[in-house]
Amino acid sequence: MKTKFIFVTGGVLSSLGKGLASAAIGAILESRGLSVTFQKLDPYINVDPGTMNPFQHGEVFVTDDGAETDLDLGHYERFSHARLGKKNNFTTGKIYHSVIMKERRGDYLGGTVQVIPHITDEIKNSIMLMANSADVAIIEIGGTIGDIEALPFQEAIRQFKWDVGKENVLYIHLSFVPYIKTAGEVKTKPTQHSVKELRSIGIQPDIILCRTDQFLSNKIKAKIALFCNVAVDNVITAKDVETIYEVPLLLHQEHLDDRILDSLHMWTRAPRLDAWEELVRRIKNPRHSVRIAVVGKYVDLKESYKSLNEALVHGGIENESEVLLDFVDSEALEGSDCNDILGNADGILVPGGFGLRGIEGKIKAVRFAREQKVPFFGICLGMQVAVIEFARNVVGMNGANSVEFDEHTDFAVIYLMTEWYDHQKRKVEKRDVSSEKGGSMRLGAYPCLLREGSFACNAYSKKEISERHRHRYEFNNDFRPALEEKGLIISGTSPDGELVEIIEIADHPWFLGCQFHPEFKSRPMDPHPLFRDFIKGALKYKTRKETA
Ligand code: GLN
Repeated sequence: MKTKFIFVTGGVLSSLGKGLASAAIGAILESRGLSVTFQKLDPYINVDPGTMNPFQHGEVFVTDDGAETDLDLGHYERFSHARLGKKNNFTTGKIYHSVIMKERRGDYLGGTVQVIPHITDEIKNSIMLMANSADVAIIEIGGTIGDIEALPFQEAIRQFKWDVGKENVLYIHLSFVPYIKTAGEVKTKPTQHSVKELRSIGIQPDIILCRTDQFLSNKIKAKIALFCNVAVDNVITAKDVETIYEVPLLLHQEHLDDRILDSLHMWTRAPRLDAWEELVRRIKNPRHSVRIAVVGKYVDLKESYKSLNEALVHGGIENESEVLLDFVDSEALEGSDCNDILGNADGILVPGGFGLRGIEGKIKAVRFAREQKVPFFGICLGMQVAVIEFARNVVGMNGANSVEFDEHTDFAVIYLMTEWYDHQKRKVEKRDVSSEKGGSMRLGAYPCLLREGSFACNAYSKKEISERHRHRYEFNNDFRPALEEKGLIISGTSPDGELVEIIEIADHPWFLGCQFHPEFKSRPMDPHPLFRDFIKGALKYKTRKETA
């Protein structure tokens, strides 16, 4: 079957959930037996979001092939079986970079290089190459219609229809239909304007998804259809829902899958959404509840821990438990009694992060978890601070630290490994303190061998795993004997034993730190084993506390 292309644009305002809508469209099409893939086209000039502040841009999602991508790729992977990588996220910066490289090489043979056709051709090529052999490719354009910087992408997707034939292309526009209290009704004008804007650049949407807080009446749908020049059946209510995993069900209930397949002239089996229904039932009817303290820096912005939050929800689903998150600013812990802030937590998690601010507070949180035997999960930076805490307070290495925070420490338990080898024994780029920012991170999937009998091995029920990384610093093997002697357990390493990937401690109900980011591989239907066992540990801790 030839690939069909669905382009998703957004209007009126940002944060309407375009990424989730795209992911959910993938889910309902998969439920009809089709294979799907995704691409996000981001109008900003950064080459990738790797260097962007998570405060501004939300989480950086990492793929197996080591691409640092937009967090929407996380939604796509969680809602479908698609596995994405470098070719699934392009930015203006990345497109221009490659056009300028070609120009410098002389590939354009002296021609004048222009937005149309050179930039637009580069965009269209990236779409074509990504689609591979999927039945349907869903391409989401970042930003909002009307943004100047998104124009080349919009122009490229307009042209695309003529390249591959109109029966193979569908435009879906996500808009906003607000309810205005004083008028006592929903308003269609913002949608009319945003579609007008879209049509002015030559794109006539086929389907309009209306983000609202209530189901739209037929009268309202007819009005939107009339003013926006679409079939009334193609005006779909995208109502707010309790859990994001309900979105595929809701869109199916509005017959979006039928409308898409009709418009693209496709025939498929009937949808099978029972697994989604069961998932939503379990999320909405938990039997238990646990409270997890997430001790981090970007605690004000939930977007910066998107995958982490979802992985915790997934861990709860497996345990029939609701997971309540308390975001604790680690700096606030520095001058206070941990018990006041963390005393209510059934589990403590220190997530990934960069930079010195709040580090001492995170170390205090680890100590509290270790001594009070509260289940602890440290991810990436969270593992590194767990090692620092152990070195300082159990082994007695005063001032132990990571060279990221103290270059001159006597006990650099976390350091820059200047030379190391990947799993195929290839020497990896040398890192040093002066390397370009972002230039020397360990990125993407690496294999890891687990030690039998460990928390890790029990969770995964296998001995070899593969997980995704995004960090610069590593465990320093010089200190391994001293730490192990005092009870630190190295329960996961690279196959050659050189890179420490997981640490645990004995005599604790559940204490684990991993150098990788397990949250990127957790799925609602297939929760990550470490998150599942962490939540299970937290539930046990809670029961013990209540019966004590
Ligand atoms: N800052 C640490 C490092 O670069 C940890 C990074 C992370 O948590 N992703 O190694």
